[in-house]
Amino acid sequence: MRAAYDTAVRAVVLDADGLPELAELADPPGPGVLVRVAGCGLCGSDVEKIGRAPGAVLGHEVAGALEDGTRVTVMHRVPCGRCARCLAGHESTCDEFAIVRIGPGGFADTLRATHVVPLPDAVRDLDGVWVEPLACVLRAADRVPRGRVLVVGCGAVGQLWVQVLRERGDEVVVAEPRRERLEQALALGALDEGGEVDAAVVTAHAGLDDAVQRLAPGGTLLVFAAPDAAVPVSVDAIYRKELSLRGSRSATPDSFRAAIALLPSLRLPPVTTLPLERFVEGVELYRRGDALKVVFTP
Ligand SMILES: [Zn+2]
Ligand SMILES: [Zn+2]
Repeated sequence: MRAAYDTAVRAVVLDADGLPELAELADPPGPGVLVRVAGCGLCGSDVEKIGRAPGAVLGHEVAGALEDGTRVTVMHRVPCGRCARCLAGHESTCDEFAIVRIGPGGFADTLRATHVVPLPDAVRDLDGVWVEPLACVLRAADRVPRGRVLVVGCGAVGQLWVQVLRERGDEVVVAEPRRERLEQALALGALDEGGEVDAAVVTAHAGLDDAVQRLAPGGTLLVFAAPDAAVPVSVDAIYRKELSLRGSRSATPDSFRAAIALLPSLRLPPVTTLPLERFVEGVELYRRGDALKVVFTP
């Protein structure tokens, strides 16, 4: 808690070695409006930067409020919407998408953002942290053909996928080695079955080649997360079955809107909420798989 005479912002930033430290900044850097952070979800893409990307902005799954009390989430990257890549539907490869629109990041008590999105009352409390991950799923879902779809990995994102695919009428089968996560996915209507599938969504790379093997001829594999190591894939299967390989990274303003509309009807995965002081511990819980989703509150 800060005293009235102190305007410093507390934020988790990456030091010169890329390691997280809780720092005090004079003011949230960058342009934009002030957002009081209520909570921010830890994403695999944050964990990926730790130890590797000194100075990188951490935390983009934000639930917060403007100074007038309007509850918002933020868009930390925004495509231009006009260039050839945007028009082709590859907005996350737009040059403007590389610009980070928040500072110092979501793991802070206050940040600045140039693109805020108001949250309706139906998106309650800290649930705003799910808007961005769900927006990523909804954008990617347009690249997944309908039918019998395999979701590889039933972590928090996998559980969103199960619901989004079921909602649009797909038969969803899952691959998940952890018993607890598997049961959570089955409770959401997924099936624990083998056999051929029309499409596969890979949220965990350990199961990527199994997914390739299970795809029916002409099937589609969607890569939805960055691998943390080299992943062997049967190119022969891709060739002989004439498979399609797709990638989808991040979200767009349209998919943010769709996510806000859909969010209240979903069963959100269980969350572990920790204060910013316990950031390193929260990252470890996530890495070990002991927490499905970690949300940090100031
Ligand atoms: Zn994310
Ligand atoms: Zn563009």
